[in-house]
Amino acid sequence: MVDVVTAGWIGAKGPHPADLTEAGRCARCGEAGNLSKIGSVVSKNFTAFDSWRDPAGQGLCSACSWGYRTTGLRQHAHLITHAPSTLRCLTLPELGQVLTRPLSRQAALVVPLRAGRRHLVPEATWGRVTLEGTSVPWTPADVERLGVMRRLRTYGFTRQAFAEQAPPFAVFRRLPSTRWPDIIIGWAELQPWRDRDLWLRLGLLATDDTAAAAA
Ligand SMILES: [Zn+2]
Repeated sequence: MVDVVTAGWIGAKGPHPADLTEAGRCARCGEAGNLSKIGSVVSKNFTAFDSWRDPAGQGLCSACSWGYRTTGLRQHAHLITHAPSTLRCLTLPELGQVLTRPLSRQAALVVPLRAGRRHLVPEATWGRVTLEGTSVPWTPADVERLGVMRRLRTYGFTRQAFAEQAPPFAVFRRLPSTRWPDIIIGWAELQPWRDRDLWLRLGLLATDDTAAAAA
């Protein structure tokens, strides 16, 4: 199966940089061809060489350069698919829509939780969501939890509240008692996400539009 970076690059119409001054095998993916100097693609502070085929290689191919140089990839969520190779920049409501289904092995999703922090596409793998330097699965259980979170956010709980073990009483008390069982059960259903907060942060990002609409 083709590398996620290569599929995304093809989806982006395969742009070639102007500085293909080297020739040989790409240090990251091993593809032979014309290359850009590594130092012109990644900064001298770059450390994530462990995933590269040959960190001592002569340069980076057009696809890998695109994966590192395209700043938009670090600012917005992107969905990359395989066969056909596509790249789609997602708005937050579109991200929420993509996450209403388990992620298939034909797709890779990258979600910058804080814009511009890290290179995510070069770390992405098929069938997983890549966030903040790690990749997580998105299962039917996560799809259900996202639905629960979306419903709970319409009640007016803040983002911070969702990290708490129990719903804050001040908000809870304002709601009609007929809603309480739904809130108590829903809150407990989100516990697996609290235990590894990357999921919680992804769920919050993907439901921000719900909270904004309810506010
Ligand atoms: Zn490459």
